[in-house]
Amino acid sequence: MKSLLLVVAMAAQMDAATMKAGFARVNITPKSPIYLSGYAARTKPSEGVLQPIWAKALAIQDTKGAKTVIVTTDLIGLSRMVTDMVAARVAKEFSIDRSRLVFNASHTHSGPMVGGNLQALFDLKPEDEKVIDAYTKVLTENLYQAVSAALSDLAPAVLSVGHGSADFGFNRRMNKGSATHIDNPKGPMDKDVPVIRVTTPDGKLRGVLFGYACHNTTLGGDLYQVNGDYAGFAQSEFESAHPGATAMFMILCGADQNPNPRGKVEQAMQYGKQLADAVSKVIDGKMDSIAGPVQAAYNVTQLTFKAHDRELYEKDLKDKLRAKVRRAELMLKLYDERRPIRSTPYPVQALRFGKVLTMVTLGGEVVVDYDLRIKKEFPGEHIIVAGYSNDVMCYIPSVRVLKEGGYEAVDSMIYYGQPGPFDENVEETVMNGVYGVMKRVGRKPAKQ
Ligand SMILES: [Zn+2]
Repeated sequence: MKSLLLVVAMAAQMDAATMKAGFARVNITPKSPIYLSGYAARTKPSEGVLQPIWAKALAIQDTKGAKTVIVTTDLIGLSRMVTDMVAARVAKEFSIDRSRLVFNASHTHSGPMVGGNLQALFDLKPEDEKVIDAYTKVLTENLYQAVSAALSDLAPAVLSVGHGSADFGFNRRMNKGSATHIDNPKGPMDKDVPVIRVTTPDGKLRGVLFGYACHNTTLGGDLYQVNGDYAGFAQSEFESAHPGATAMFMILCGADQNPNPRGKVEQAMQYGKQLADAVSKVIDGKMDSIAGPVQAAYNVTQLTFKAHDRELYEKDLKDKLRAKVRRAELMLKLYDERRPIRSTPYPVQALRFGKVLTMVTLGGEVVVDYDLRIKKEFPGEHIIVAGYSNDVMCYIPSVRVLKEGGYEAVDSMIYYGQPGPFDENVEETVMNGVYGVMKRVGRKPAKQ
């Protein structure tokens, strides 16, 4: 009996040891001035660089040889225009299915505009648009290179998962129905800092992937220097504390969460340090090892907008908010072409590592309600619910937030060039997407 147990234990150990992992990074700092995204108040392109920004990739080869790659970026958001192109090339060159590729953007508001994201944010001059198009083209190549380099770096590895916490993020929806953000300490939040640690078989740290559910908006629109905000500082802080290791940040469902207080570079650095310290504490403590196959499922569903007609946008043409006029022009053009936007494609993905960890990735700016709901409905294994993944087409409110109204439900749609708020099926449709991919990786919701 004793020897059998020993054999089982050894087999489990060997199983874990046969996993492989690889890291890579590509500098994606714009080489010349470019409009920074996120704040409509900005009036000119960037002026210099406070901190370089990166695309980083973690490639994982499971015990059956299947390869999965997670890409994180210090960017406002990646559109499907970009991720589809990279995914198609990765599929062709490496035979990696779309379900095994994740793209997450940290949502830094001090990073460049990216093609296909936040289309109606600015009145851009043609020369500014040209710069953004050129940057996006190079970015697409860089993302592919990051994936390719991470796959070349695959080497035996031990993966583990654990959790810490950070407390600088606050629910920002105090005033229902208004576009202004005031912190609401009583609103739903999630302070969880999930960490995946990757070491060599003999225990040397190779890197970490960690997350947090909070807008990457410590810095305001008055700063014109490129940087990764708190998430950028968290990664650089961790990497200087652990020379040779790669730190990757993945933003979770922080669409209705802001750092508090905010506005100063020192605060962004301080939050970065808090997060890096939380990650360091997790990797020095007890973690659960991730072994076995990685199962993956990916699905693109459709989220439907509330019904609209062209009269609405004809009225908006006279609005004093410039972004509203730009959105109206875009919508009227689509009406003229007889193809008004009625819905948006919406990617939902699940990656399950053995029977230890499930990572759910959702497109768009996802409010924390989804994260809390998914965690509650799928107990029993470690879970990471990321937003801002694979495509950032707009905010994704829950029914609660949609009914309350305000920025995340209504006003933000203007800047994204979307027709207006979602209809009330939004939460159910997203959740049905989640149930679908979860089922395909062998997970059922607990009975409520
Ligand atoms: Zn946002």
